[in-house]
Amino acid sequence: MDLLNTLVDKGLRRELPTREEALAVLATSDDELLDVVAAAGKVRRHWFGRRVKLNYLVNLKSGLCPEDCSYCSQRLGSKAEILKYTWLKPDEAADAAGAGIAGGAKRVCLVASGRGPTDRDVERVSRTIEAIKGEHEGVEVCACLGLLSEGQAERLRAAGADAYNHNLNTSEATYGDICTTHDFSDRVDTVRQAQAAGLSACSGLIAGMGESDTDLVDVVFALREMDPDSVPVNFLIPFEGTPLAEKWSLTPQRCLRILAMARFVCPDVEVRLAGGREIHLRTLQPLALHLVNSIFLGDYLTSEGQAGQADLEMIADAGFEVEGSETTTLPEHRRGASVCGPHDGCGPHESACGPCGAEPEPEPVAAPAAARTDLVAVRRRGAGTDLPPNA
Ligand code: SF4
Repeated sequence: MDLLNTLVDKGLRRELPTREEALAVLATSDDELLDVVAAAGKVRRHWFGRRVKLNYLVNLKSGLCPEDCSYCSQRLGSKAEILKYTWLKPDEAADAAGAGIAGGAKRVCLVASGRGPTDRDVERVSRTIEAIKGEHEGVEVCACLGLLSEGQAERLRAAGADAYNHNLNTSEATYGDICTTHDFSDRVDTVRQAQAAGLSACSGLIAGMGESDTDLVDVVFALREMDPDSVPVNFLIPFEGTPLAEKWSLTPQRCLRILAMARFVCPDVEVRLAGGREIHLRTLQPLALHLVNSIFLGDYLTSEGQAGQADLEMIADAGFEVEGSETTTLPEHRRGASVCGPHDGCGPHESACGPCGAEPEPEPVAAPAAARTDLVAVRRRGAGTDLPPNA
């Protein structure tokens, strides 16, 4: 297939595909699916070998958010029966992180619900980072605390944070459909602040919220333009009690096409398989390892993932290996990219970043996906509970 050969060549050269090429990946048929996975898999192996980086989420503060992100079980007015608790103490968070690190995670992601942190919250998280790093030298810590105010990224960096996560989630054109309390540009600003402070930027998307193929390509191109070091690809978990509870639109095949497209557009970036993988990819999860080089281990913020041991077995059975702490995740040319300008280290950005002006092809109608509410389990263990975590 000419398209796939072209995309592999571009991926190996870190050259940006055109929007039409990215859209064409999403429009491939199920008959072509394994060819798409094999092609994107070549790009993945070129830059990351067969390594899989494990990341572990610690939800520092759960629920009760004043923002109205419609996909989120912690949003204003959410009726989802999730765990709700205020800030974990630094030693509690360090204990929770320790379970993930013992399970093989090399990055701990410290997440708190809310619009953004107060300076007191930043201080609290700084002490938590110090507690984790004091016990686990060499572990990477990523903070995810919402919209940052001036000086907060620098304080987190000074406290030892390696990275900051803030997802764009969807295209700029549809952002207003999923959230009214902040906008797309607020999110871009926070990622830029993190990069300017020398934090490695992590920013990704959520697929399955009713967006079009064009929206998906737009958000992945917007991410590439910002040049984060890691791009988590989430698949919507349609929580009962949230506005998107009925949005079951993803099939395992579509998830794989989305991941392949993300890999072609961001060939040398850590593409991370994030929330929703178990419920949407289901038995096809191992195929996704050919596309991504990073996953979350164990549970998510408010829902349960598959058993940590099952993750490790899946990686081994599929012929991949867990990336050790002595290995640097990113290819050599990208190392330190976060402290350089936003365009350093991600290949050429000059082509096809803007609208091409061509008449868009009508988008194919996706096959209906089955609602698998039976697979959504609200988290009842780990951080904020008395039960042991899943790692
Ligand atoms: S995504 Fe973050 S900001 Fe939005 S509702 Fe959820 S916790 Fe709040």
